[in-house]
Amino acid sequence: MNRFWSPAVQQLQPYTPGEQPRGGAFLKLNTNENPHGPSPLALAAIRAAADDGLRLYPDPAGADIAQAIAASFGLAPDHVFLGNGSDEVLAHAFHAFFAGRGPVLAPDVTYSFYRTFAALYGARLREVALDEGFDWRAEDYLGPAAGIVIANPNAPTGIAAPLARIRQILAANPGSLVIVDEAYVDFGAASAAGLVAEFDNLLVVQTFSKSRSLAGLRVGFALGQPQLIEGLRRIKDSFNSYPVGRLALAGALASWQDRAWFDRTRAQVMTDRTRMAEALAGQGFRVLPSAANFLFASHEGLPAEALQAGLRARGILVRHFPAPRIRNGLRISVGTAQDGDRLLQATAEILARG
Ligand SMILES: *Cc1c(COP(=O)(O)O)cnc(C)c1O
Repeated sequence: MNRFWSPAVQQLQPYTPGEQPRGGAFLKLNTNENPHGPSPLALAAIRAAADDGLRLYPDPAGADIAQAIAASFGLAPDHVFLGNGSDEVLAHAFHAFFAGRGPVLAPDVTYSFYRTFAALYGARLREVALDEGFDWRAEDYLGPAAGIVIANPNAPTGIAAPLARIRQILAANPGSLVIVDEAYVDFGAASAAGLVAEFDNLLVVQTFSKSRSLAGLRVGFALGQPQLIEGLRRIKDSFNSYPVGRLALAGALASWQDRAWFDRTRAQVMTDRTRMAEALAGQGFRVLPSAANFLFASHEGLPAEALQAGLRARGILVRHFPAPRIRNGLRISVGTAQDGDRLLQATAEILARG
C-alpha cells in the first residue's frame, strides 16, 4: 500500500505468472513453453529485420501478418486483430466488451487471468463450477449474460471441448459475446475459427507463444467479425497504437508461413505427452486427458506441494495452483522426451521415499 496508489490500484489482485528463474539451472516445466524452439525461418526473419528500419514505427495493424492469418482461416484481414501476446488481446477484449457489465460466465477452474481482467475493468465475473470430471457443460452457460469466456483446451486441466458444444453455446446465446481462448488448440483440439463467419458473437483468441514456440516474442491475435475487431482496435488505439514491434511482426509472419516446422514440432509434443501421461499413470498418478502441451496430474499418496518441493530440489519446476478444487494437482509442461524421462525419474524417487 502506498499513498500515491489510486483506489483502483489498491484493490487490484494481479495475476501471478509462473516463475522465470534467473539462473539457467532448472528444467522449466512450469509455464508451458515449447521445448522445440521457434522455426529457424522465424529466427532468420527477426535477424534480417534488425536493421536501420527499426528507427521507424511498425505497421500499427500488422497488415502483412493479419493478411496471412486471415488467409489460412478463409477470412478477410478485417477479421483479425493483432496484439502484444494474447494476454493483451484478452485484456482489450474485456475492456472493449465487458467493462462495467455482467455477468461474464467462466468456469471456476480456468485461466486465472480472466478474473484479473474482470476486476481490472469492472466486469462482473460469475464462476460456473466444472463437473466432477473437470469439464464444462453447455447447459450451465445458457441464459442471459454479457459474455462467456472459455479456454479450449481448458487450463490448467488440458481438457478439450468438442466444437459442437462451442457451437451450442454460440447458438443459444446470441446476446452474449463468447470468447474462446485457444492458446493450446494446436496440440489436439478443434478450433472455433471456422465458426467466425457464421456467428457475430464469437471471438477466437490464439497465440504464437505455445505451439509456435515464440513466448518471448509476444504476439497473439483474435479472429472475429469486423465490428468486434473494430471494437478491439478502438481500445488499442486509445492505449498503444503500436503494440507489436517490427522484429515481432517479421518473426511472427515467417513463423506462420513455416507450416512444416509447426506441424513437426506440435506432433512431437503430442507424442511425448501421450508417453508421459501413460508413465505418470503407471506411477499411480491421476492424469486428466490433455489436448494441450501440459498434463494436470495428482497423486493420492503425496500432497501436490510436497511433490512440487521434491521436484524443485531436483532442479525441476512445475506449476501448483492453490485454488480449492485443484490444489492437490500439479500442471506439468510437456518438454522433450529427455525432459520427460528426467521428470519421471524424479517423481519415482520422490514417491519411493514417501
Ligand atoms: C499462455 C496462455 C495465454 C497467453 O499467452 P500469451 O503469451 O500472452 O500469448 C492465454 N491463455 C491461456 C489459457 C494461456 O495458457
